[in-house]
Amino acid sequence: MSTPRIVIIGAGISGLSAALYLKRRNFTNITILEKAAVPGGKIATLHHEGLIIERGADSFLAKKQAMLDLAADLGLSDQLVGTSPSAKHVYIAGEHKLHPFPKGLRLAIPSDIGAILRTPTLTPFAKLRVLADLLLPGAKHNPSIEDESLGQLLTRRFGQAFAEQIAEPILAGIYAGDLDKISVQATFPQFAEMERCSGSLIRAMRKQLRAEQQEARIQSMFLAFRGGFSQLTSELLNQLTDVELHCGCAVERISGEGPYLVRDAAGNEWQADELIVTVPSFSARKLFAPLADIPFFQHIEHVSVANVIFAFDKQSGIRLPEGSGFLVPRRLNKLTTACTWTSNKWTHTAPDGSVLLRAYVGRDGQQNWQRFTDEQLTSEVLAELRDWMDIPGEPTFIDVNRWPLAMPQYAPGHRQRLQAMRDFVGQKHPNFRLIGASYDAVGLPDCVLHARQAAFAIADTYRE
Ligand SMILES: Cc1cc2nc3c(=O)[nH]c(=O)nc-3n(C[C@H](O)[C@H](O)[C@H](O)COP(=O)(O)OP(=O)(O)OC[C@H]3O[C@@H](n4cnc5c(N)ncnc54)[C@H](O)[C@@H]3O)c2cc1C
Repeated sequence: MSTPRIVIIGAGISGLSAALYLKRRNFTNITILEKAAVPGGKIATLHHEGLIIERGADSFLAKKQAMLDLAADLGLSDQLVGTSPSAKHVYIAGEHKLHPFPKGLRLAIPSDIGAILRTPTLTPFAKLRVLADLLLPGAKHNPSIEDESLGQLLTRRFGQAFAEQIAEPILAGIYAGDLDKISVQATFPQFAEMERCSGSLIRAMRKQLRAEQQEARIQSMFLAFRGGFSQLTSELLNQLTDVELHCGCAVERISGEGPYLVRDAAGNEWQADELIVTVPSFSARKLFAPLADIPFFQHIEHVSVANVIFAFDKQSGIRLPEGSGFLVPRRLNKLTTACTWTSNKWTHTAPDGSVLLRAYVGRDGQQNWQRFTDEQLTSEVLAELRDWMDIPGEPTFIDVNRWPLAMPQYAPGHRQRLQAMRDFVGQKHPNFRLIGASYDAVGLPDCVLHARQAAFAIADTYRE
């Protein structure tokens, strides 16, 4: 095998796992260029007095194989932990009060009709409208209408009240987005498929859950690492010791036609036969500008988010309900969009005697929080939490984390535009690969999957 010079831009999970899988395919000349002072991107764990604090990603969907594979490839499978079985309940915030979510929701799709009929969150009419999903015909497959927003699909199937009050905080929350602007095909394409195959989403979900129960597959829907997600990045870095990693190196420009010339802000240059670019689309647009004007980059907006982490001494009198936390519907117009009762949900994160909470802030259309100082943000969020929860004492530790333009918003049509962009780039620049959260999916396992695919695609190119 020849030894191409491979440059990876960005040392988040996409860049690091691409490097790992390239190395596993025996590539030896790999360089990673990272703007920040430390690698990891949106994975960042703080260890503080026995607390494991995730400032960025804190878990992944257990059924996503790519992340399980990566953990196994790194020898970390025995470090995976599930959520506490006693933290199953999730709540939804009302004015001054938390209400339990109806049972049986999976990714917001109902599977338990009795639970829908019993929930105090919906009016009797809204409940009947949800059940209409069982009778309404499925959308006819029409290739000319390839995509719609999640809001459109869920309102069509379950009515507006369900979409706004129950589905919106769950699904839009994952993307810090607006349900009416997020593409079904780029986020939950399985919903369109379920509708096409079963007509009713409720019926399709019940069928899926029955099959999963028979396989006894689902122990915990989410998994994390016992020592925090830094365990994952540390092990990746351990296994990449012979890869050149330059931190504090902001790439500014890519030129040439292959080999490419990659230049950073300090004027350092690298030659690359193969390039993997994992930076967000607004950064990629600047890098790519000398090579081509790609309108696709302008179509993806990014939303800024933050989280405020609070630790309390249990003796302060703080009482958490049984459960993993609560979501805040957009219509309440609060600063807090959700709150995880971290020490309930992930028992490994806090020693006995401590309570750990993580409040999320910021979503599409609600970005005013950015003008607050950390102190203002903390006191506003804590005041909101106190309105919903019993928090008599003061926190013993507070950590504010801002993530500017961190959450890509995939608008309807995203998949088609992405494919068109990839076709265009692939023709002109076959040695240039764009991966990462701005493109295919935000979840960690999908970032790993696409990084692995990019690495293997490069390996295929050099196979004799
Ligand atoms: C607060 C928060 C919580 C999240 N929680 C979860 C979760 O629980 N589960 C989950 O699955 N997903 C979660 N996500 C999403 C997930 O963390 C991200 O989608 C994923 O980590 C993105 O990885 P990436 O490598 O593609 O991008 P990034 O992690 O953003 O890495 C890109 C890297 O490129 C670097 N870079 C940018 N520009 C340049 C440049 N010009 N030159 C050199 N380097 C550059 C950046 O500094 C960065 O390190 C969360 C995201 C956020 C913000």
